[in-house]
Amino acid sequence: MDDVSVSTTAITAEQESACPCCGRPVYEGEGVLESDSRELAHYGYRWAEGHESRFTIGICALDEHGGNVAGLAVVSGRGDGEQLIYTVLDPEQAPWGGSASLGKVLTRKELLEDGVIPDLFSLLDAIVANEPRISSRILGGTALE
Ligand SMILES: [Zn+2]
Repeated sequence: MDDVSVSTTAITAEQESACPCCGRPVYEGEGVLESDSRELAHYGYRWAEGHESRFTIGICALDEHGGNVAGLAVVSGRGDGEQLIYTVLDPEQAPWGGSASLGKVLTRKELLEDGVIPDLFSLLDAIVANEPRISSRILGGTALE
């Protein structure tokens, strides 16, 4: 995706709630990843203070007609001090369920073995780099401290 210019647009304002386990703030928001010509993916993120700076992103990849490619991929990310490490989550680990528009939450097998979203990690990198509400926290050192 290096040769394609992409950007993100917020769909929802960031919501703050209290973490059910520790009461620290949890932030959630939604947006869309776009190229010059079309929407590439809808996504949602969840960022909890504490918790080893882990964050979670749900991605619904869109095809060239705006249709849902496969369903909802849910990935957990964290910084290890040098790079971001992603872990694909199974549905029972995901903080979100599927929906009529997003489809069902995909399994690790479907995503990692069957490759139902072939460019999942390119989309992830593009979202993390271009969504200011995520990138500012990573680049600001929150995730990489
Ligand atoms: Zn907590």
